[in-house]
Amino acid sequence: MSNALAFINQQPANGFASVAVNSSASIAGNEAKEKDVALAQIEFRNVTKNYGSVAAVKDLSLSVSRGEFLTILGPSGSGKTTTLMLLAGFQAPSQGDIFIAGKSVAAVPSYRRDQGIVFQSYALFPPLNVRRNLEFPLEMRGMKAAERTARVDRILSRVHLSGLEDRMPSQLSGGQQQRVALARALIADPPILLLDEPLGALDRNLREQMQSEIKSLHKEFGITTVCVTHDQDEALTLSDRIVVMRAGAIEQTDTPEAIYDRPATQFVAKFLGEANILENPGFMIESEATQPSDTIAMIRPERICVAALDAPKRVDADLRQSVIGIVENMIYAGPLRKYHVRVGSTLLVAREHVVSGRPALQPGEEVRLEWLRSDVRFVAA
Ligand code: ADP
Ligand code: MG
Repeated sequence: MSNALAFINQQPANGFASVAVNSSASIAGNEAKEKDVALAQIEFRNVTKNYGSVAAVKDLSLSVSRGEFLTILGPSGSGKTTTLMLLAGFQAPSQGDIFIAGKSVAAVPSYRRDQGIVFQSYALFPPLNVRRNLEFPLEMRGMKAAERTARVDRILSRVHLSGLEDRMPSQLSGGQQQRVALARALIADPPILLLDEPLGALDRNLREQMQSEIKSLHKEFGITTVCVTHDQDEALTLSDRIVVMRAGAIEQTDTPEAIYDRPATQFVAKFLGEANILENPGFMIESEATQPSDTIAMIRPERICVAALDAPKRVDADLRQSVIGIVENMIYAGPLRKYHVRVGSTLLVAREHVVSGRPALQPGEEVRLEWLRSDVRFVAA
């Protein structure tokens, strides 16, 4: 299966399964050939992976469209890396099967799966300089020296590392090493890119910079990408869809917006962002919808307005629920203020943007909390 897969198609920004077009963004340059649209699709069918008595992945079914950026998000130990290693062929399923482009890869060894992989630890070869690190996968494919050089130059320029080809990995910063790792994963034009906590070792600013770098590479190459992370911001920023995993199983799969705004379960609500769980709030919860059984009510902190009692009401009375509480504390976070407000037995978190002319409310102050009834969500307990 390998040479048919060895290039990347440019992808229209919005379509995953659209017809293949000739690639101008391909690292292979003008080598690009027509490719079957279904080739890069990934499907897990009832995959279980046991390590002895530990079920790391349980009956997982999942499909990834061609060109899609899918992120597997979950806490440590939830089975994310195992899922990725199964796809990469470094582990074999205990049950179930994985299909790429409609064909089972059970018998396909990892080195023939034609996937670019970036591990959390960059896994560059320390004794090889940047150029040799990048040439390695091309040499393995028997590519001629002149073409290898041209490709290395092209990808280095693309990841803004031109001029560093003679450096050893130890002479690069963390961000530069990560760029080399990304370049090496992309250099052979694989149809699938796998990323395991790719930005986990970088500090915040660099992480945000690399996030937009990865996003624009993905857009440009239209490469089907499966990314594993425990970082919710990374998942929300990068992904077309997010799969939330918990204890080896899928908890919810949806777009970033839907996962954040309409979490299916309490676990998802709390794992992505902050959630006020209105389990025993000490007041009647008003909502637009009737509460389904076995659910609890939830509202996001930024959906709650906090105001002094004499301040004008901010939300149309017909649409809102309003309760009185007492500020316990205010946490200052640059452009945001976070309040903990006690309402009876419940401590609610509200978050607001700092606005000129609206001074912070003080601990001990009696305040009014308001929110739209339509912002209350019911999630499975
Ligand atoms: P994550 O990447 O989400 O942190 P992993 O997939 O690494 O989770 O691990 C899932 C579970 O499987 C954990 O309980 C972990 O301890 C276990 N596990 C992972 N790899 C192995 C292994 N090679 N041998 C035994 N247990 C493992
Ligand atoms: Mg992991």
